[in-house]
Amino acid sequence: MRIKHMFKKTVRDIRGEEYGNTPEVPDNLMRKCNACKAAVFADEVKQNHYICPHCGNYFHVPAYRRIKMVVDRKSFTEWDVHMEEQNPLQYKGYEEKIRSLREKTGLDEAVVTGKCTIKGTPTALGVCDCRFMMSSMGEVVGEKITRVFERATKERLPVILYICSGGARMQEGLVSLMQMAKTSMAIRKHSDAGLLYVPVLTDPTTGGVTASFAMLGDIILAEPKALIGFAGPRVIEQTIGQKLPKGFQRAEFLLEHGFVDKIVEREEQRSVLADILKLHENKIPDYGQSDNSDMEMKYKSDNAESTETAVGDKRESENTIWPEFIPSGNYTPWEHVQLARAKTRPTGKDYIEALFDDFMEFHGDRHCGDDPAVIGGVAFFHGKPVTVLAQEKGEGTRENIARNFGMVSPEGYWKSLRLMQQAEKFHRPVICLVDTPGAFCGLEAEERGQGEAIAKNLYTLAGLTVPVLSIVIGEGGSGGALAFAVADEVWMLEHSVYSILSPEGFASILWKDSKKAKEAAAVMKLTAADLYQMGMIEHVIPEAEPVSRENINDAAAYLENGIEDFLGKYGKTEPEKLLEHRYERFRKM
Ligand SMILES: [Zn+2]
Repeated sequence: MRIKHMFKKTVRDIRGEEYGNTPEVPDNLMRKCNACKAAVFADEVKQNHYICPHCGNYFHVPAYRRIKMVVDRKSFTEWDVHMEEQNPLQYKGYEEKIRSLREKTGLDEAVVTGKCTIKGTPTALGVCDCRFMMSSMGEVVGEKITRVFERATKERLPVILYICSGGARMQEGLVSLMQMAKTSMAIRKHSDAGLLYVPVLTDPTTGGVTASFAMLGDIILAEPKALIGFAGPRVIEQTIGQKLPKGFQRAEFLLEHGFVDKIVEREEQRSVLADILKLHENKIPDYGQSDNSDMEMKYKSDNAESTETAVGDKRESENTIWPEFIPSGNYTPWEHVQLARAKTRPTGKDYIEALFDDFMEFHGDRHCGDDPAVIGGVAFFHGKPVTVLAQEKGEGTRENIARNFGMVSPEGYWKSLRLMQQAEKFHRPVICLVDTPGAFCGLEAEERGQGEAIAKNLYTLAGLTVPVLSIVIGEGGSGGALAFAVADEVWMLEHSVYSILSPEGFASILWKDSKKAKEAAAVMKLTAADLYQMGMIEHVIPEAEPVSRENINDAAAYLENGIEDFLGKYGKTEPEKLLEHRYERFRKM
């Protein structure tokens, strides 16, 4: 009887929303999975990360079980136990309800907080438990979460929160609403101290919690299919008088719409969190003993007279790293354009794989979408974290289409902007890989402010106090490329091109004849060799021929040495000098 009863029960939050999807699993019982209806052993489910062994359905995980699943053995120390509710509205029956829930769940309140290590890295951790009033946020929940951030700020710890919630706790009235402000303000202080916060959104994350601490992470993770939204689905359906589409407000929907960085399966969460923590262990960089502390801010080219040492002008080391560039006379500019556009050409993904370790891709612009024409994330370069942003055309027609042939939309620029700002916060150098025919020309792009999106990137890159390197790996088309190339140095692969717009567009505008693209290419000075001669770029990277993914190794080896050298030099440059140098680089053009 009891089993049946518990299965049929839907957990209701205080507004009467139904979340019957993922019930908790009681001890020592045979249960029925609410998704596939198969009978499952509770113990088996527990051993299997609370996942149905038949259909993969995720059950709710009790807080202490969740902690056990994620942290290093015996590393968890709980903070702020036994805090008492105030019952500010003198709401009838509230205290009794709390008491009975405490007895039933063995929990003090809806969130458990403390400190632990995950694969050796210390972190503050909070875990919500939906058995306790649907993990709604009353004063105690808000207070415990606020204290996690305050203490983590003091102890310079990152914060990981496993979140689920029905929203604000109605029984506490406006006091409950204020917890949204209180927690957000504590997060702000933690963030201003340069510290990492990673929320993991689980089923369901709704209401006031979604409108506060759930969405304020540096990196937002979610469990597959978790319901995440501000207004509950039933409220929306009642308001608009329509049935919601399948998958609406699920984690996958949020990923597609730019609000979640990554959906992580339960089995992977411990290791993904450990990787994220490792990628953010980097402390404030050491600007001491820079050999260019009084460097002359001088942009150089091989043709420019340069007698004093500027950043990026260390001839001795250059000679060992960079081969003497002999422009290949074998190709016409138009042939270079063809090589830059060749379908066989390695794309951003290939270079990311060749140059970096443990790349972790992050998604979303936090506004409305996730542009597949931009791949962004964090990786290690020779053991040091870097932010990588790549314009990606994709491989093969199918992927070309999915990635819009590398033509970036405002969502792509917003995503890169967000990741640039993240790089600044965590003192990570930014490495941009440029490969776009140009920014996407389309109705939606204009509606969302394509021009503004590009301009914001130029503006933001101009102000980053971390080293920025841009490498044109294929087509550098117009403002769409420049939005990734306001950098301390810009390099080009031998057969890449960089231009004001496509030769076809150039011919069409100036000569009213797009068929004269070949002639246009000849006058546009768009090849790496031309731009190097003109002093517009710092280095040209030789490419093996024929240009193909299989032949990436030579160029990748040059790039690897070059990047090591670049980071060595610019990583030690004081922020003001770096900014001044970047300013001067473009000021002279
Ligand atoms: Zn199942």
